[in-house]
Amino acid sequence: MRDNVDICDFAVRRTGRDQRAVVRAGGAAVGSGDFAVIAGPCAIETRQSLFALAESVRRSGAAILRGGAYKPRTSPYDFQGLGPEGLGMLADAGRRTGLPTLSEIVSESDLEYFENIDMLQIGARNMRNYSLLKAAGRTKKPILLKRAPDASPTEFLASAEYILKEGNPNVALCERGSTLCGHGVLDLNALRLLKKMTYLPVIADPTHSSNGSEFVRALALAACAAGADGIMVEVHASPKDALCDGDVAIEPDEFDRLCRDLRRLRGLRICPTD
Ligand code: PEP
Ligand code: MN
Repeated sequence: MRDNVDICDFAVRRTGRDQRAVVRAGGAAVGSGDFAVIAGPCAIETRQSLFALAESVRRSGAAILRGGAYKPRTSPYDFQGLGPEGLGMLADAGRRTGLPTLSEIVSESDLEYFENIDMLQIGARNMRNYSLLKAAGRTKKPILLKRAPDASPTEFLASAEYILKEGNPNVALCERGSTLCGHGVLDLNALRLLKKMTYLPVIADPTHSSNGSEFVRALALAACAAGADGIMVEVHASPKDALCDGDVAIEPDEFDRLCRDLRRLRGLRICPTD
């Protein structure tokens, strides 16, 4: 894509707005001035494990429960997710805990299965799936759009614009980092740039940008200190047994410690608020 296309008029870049957008999912708000923590397993595995984890992350302070039912994997032999059955479990877990729910959609033909899910995620791989972006724009559901590792902030905003242009203003952006010489990089400069370029909320993903679960805490705190509107973090009761992304998942105790430290950091009132 040409990066110099004239997108100065894009709604996402309007700087004249004196107010930042707030994206609401159920009772949760992203970009409200609070720091929104989205947490849950990479993939929904069983009803029992999801319910237990949902209750645990809620107690720790999560605002939104995540869980993948459609997993876009590099290998077709890896676990692909439970599909509609998994989405049913996620909706039930949300109802039981009172947490709004978020799950990734990979094809517009699956939209009907997401009726009881509060927020749709469009992942890094699908940031350039323009028919999916348009379909997401035609729903009025809040959307979490993740930056593809090789996409410039400008191209990322153009993808967000596809959703807005269809009449859905409820878009939150997620800086998910990239890979440099084989290791993960959470790009906090891109996060700052996005906050400068757009009024949309911007959260960070310290999980998929990390080089292992022991790095997640530092990246999450750094994102908070850099002025992110929230984070999305993967949590698993037994990461070594996880069907997906166990190497970067943190355990519930570590998540609880992270939430406490995020509250302390926010309490210092030193993080950028614009
Ligand atoms: C995810 O958040 O579950 C995911 C698959 O992330 P990404 O699109 O960033 O790879
Ligand atoms: Mn994952």
